[in-house]
Amino acid sequence: MRITEVRIHHLSGKLKERFGWSLNWTTERHATLVEVVTDEGLSGWGDGGWGGDRLIQHPEIVIGRSPFEAEAIFEELRGPGGFQERSRPSTAGGLDVALWDLMGQALGMPVWRLLGRAYRNRVQPYCTTMYRKDWPDLAKGLAQEASRWKTLGYRVIKMKIGYGPEIDLEIVKAVRAAIGPTTGLAVDSNCAYDAGTAAWLGKQLEAYGLLWWEEPLLANDYQGYARLRQAFSIPLASGESMATDDLITQYLQPRLVDILQPDIEHVGFTGGRRLANLAWLNHVRLIPHNWGTAIRTVGELHWCAVMPPLTEALAGPPVMFEFDRTEHPFRDAVVQDRVDIDSDGLLAVPEGPGLGVRVERDAVEQFRKSLTVIV
Ligand SMILES: [Mg+2]
Repeated sequence: MRITEVRIHHLSGKLKERFGWSLNWTTERHATLVEVVTDEGLSGWGDGGWGGDRLIQHPEIVIGRSPFEAEAIFEELRGPGGFQERSRPSTAGGLDVALWDLMGQALGMPVWRLLGRAYRNRVQPYCTTMYRKDWPDLAKGLAQEASRWKTLGYRVIKMKIGYGPEIDLEIVKAVRAAIGPTTGLAVDSNCAYDAGTAAWLGKQLEAYGLLWWEEPLLANDYQGYARLRQAFSIPLASGESMATDDLITQYLQPRLVDILQPDIEHVGFTGGRRLANLAWLNHVRLIPHNWGTAIRTVGELHWCAVMPPLTEALAGPPVMFEFDRTEHPFRDAVVQDRVDIDSDGLLAVPEGPGLGVRVERDAVEQFRKSLTVIV
């Protein structure tokens, strides 16, 4: 089986209601779907990076090769000089996922079976919602929204902060009061603060039983993160924007954060498999970041299926992943299969070949704004 074509579908769609976070207001959603076409009629799909300029200049890295060369392709897309960095458009997580999807389809096996030992066939999601809306009272609006997600069966909820320390304290207090002490609560400030401000705020937030604080600082403020780990007891999480090698050298090896949050968009299954094993060896939790379509969500389910548990205790830290429930015009429409929690609040890992979902081409075309074809 040889790869004949890579088709990069650029999708976008407008929201009915805008939502805000520490850096901006979001009015539309975007996605990059990578379709790898073969001479045997199979297409593999991924959601995320596709190699950018590096692939345009060197299509021979992918075209004409077998999808079973995924690891070699992953390495060669780095280009000269080594590291895959976000600032260089060489990350190709979406392309890598599409290659693994093809391998699974060709062998009639789910991707999780190719990745290694499966530890679980269902995964606990945490619910990502709780952005800023055009409410007259932010704390009240968030508290009401949090109660709704709890009622729908989510055991862990993440909310955005980063609006200034006083506002953050007010809204976290209101949300914790609304959901009670037993629903897990995490916060994410999207790199809003400097280390001094975050050190102070973290001490105040200790009272609210938070599972983690995500991106208090810029992702590359390594000394700042080291300072925060000494400053307060809330577990630190980061890594969603970074590529595989930086995650390993800057975060994992020095154990800079308590929870590593790579996104399959950047690291693919090839980088994700390395990270899962290294995180386990270094006693660091790995909770994948996920901000994409159902194709990416399903990819993360396969990845989470093979993630080793950090401890063998029955009450050990659960393997979790991010389940985006904000408004999205086409996130779920691009697959024909339902990707949602069951009555226990868990998501099932697909059993079918490859990613185990069928792409809905009509929806891809409906929301597609442009197409890049590599031959
Ligand atoms: Mg985040």
